[in-house]
Amino acid sequence: MQHDDLAAATAHGEAAAGSMRRFGLPPTPLNYTIWYEFHAGRNLGLTRALSVALSNRRSINSIMMAELHDLFFTIAPEREAAREARATLREAAGRILEAGADAQRYGETLSEVAETMDEGTVGLTSLITRLASETATLSAKSARLGLELNASGDRIVALEKQLAAAQQVSMTDPLTALPNRRAFDAMILEHAGQAMNSGRDLCLLMIDIDHFKRVNDVWGHIVGDAVIRLVAATIAQHAPEQARAARYGGEEFAMLLPATSLHHARIRGETVRTALAARRLSLRANAEPIGSVTVSIGAARYEPGEPIGAWIERADAALYRAKQQGRNRVVTLVAAPIIAD
Ligand code: GH3
Ligand code: MG
Ligand code: MG
Repeated sequence: MQHDDLAAATAHGEAAAGSMRRFGLPPTPLNYTIWYEFHAGRNLGLTRALSVALSNRRSINSIMMAELHDLFFTIAPEREAAREARATLREAAGRILEAGADAQRYGETLSEVAETMDEGTVGLTSLITRLASETATLSAKSARLGLELNASGDRIVALEKQLAAAQQVSMTDPLTALPNRRAFDAMILEHAGQAMNSGRDLCLLMIDIDHFKRVNDVWGHIVGDAVIRLVAATIAQHAPEQARAARYGGEEFAMLLPATSLHHARIRGETVRTALAARRLSLRANAEPIGSVTVSIGAARYEPGEPIGAWIERADAALYRAKQQGRNRVVTLVAAPIIAD
């Protein structure tokens, strides 16, 4: 938090206390932080999320507070801190490498000066000799220092690469190479925050393979795994550039569609669905046909300010309906109308 002057801080604090009373929220530090920042009006995303929720007469409760806190005070600052740490590391590595090069250059320059000095100058002979030997020592030290600095610079760069690779591994599903559930949980919060900031639509597709148990039962788990990989590849192939697809669970996938209306999300779902249904699969070993694999898809649009869990549940409910209505289809579900109190 920035430092407000006393009068402004008192006013924001009192307004925060008033809001907590008004919505029947306990005066916890978490709730206080949210409402203080809201009244201070410095956090654009938070202000927008709460303003939209208030104007939509959504119920303002502890679940919503916890999610807003995660979104605007926990996850974003953590990510910011990580970003800063990486930038500092990179800068330090750059400086060390530069210092190494400078030290080496300095040694080389001194040697050159010593070699090119006029040896015939009267009275300077001993000085030249001393300078030459000191220069040689310094040059050797500089070279060593340069090498050491170069080596630590390289180690930092290598370490940073390892760190980035480890982060990548922890966020990637090994079977399909798609982002995993953990990565998805972070992505969905980030995109919801962006949607609240930009005011643009954000849609979610939940995609589940139809009768997948049969695939496992009839063809075995190895073929089952290959089918999951094929579905993942098809989903990735038919995701628009800015979309984010992930393996959500066993044979279930999720796709986030930023700046996409619910109407266009359905069209995108249809593209994925038809692309898959059109494929005729066969076993690689003996070309034995195993038919086609279909998916059912549920689509829902994010209502700014609603709990992320409610949005995912709506996409899940749409998926459930798609299954009930016969599978191999896309169903969209809009948020229930808000009942005024
Ligand atoms: P529905 O159309 O209703 O979705 O039917 P379903 O048979 O697909 O039912 P459900 O979604 O409940 O079944 C999921 C099955 O997927 C159960 C589980 O054994 C299997 N499964 C989950 N993860 C994997 C995996 O990584 N590899 C394989 N081979 N099978 C998996
Ligand atoms: Mg299934
Ligand atoms: Mg399933």
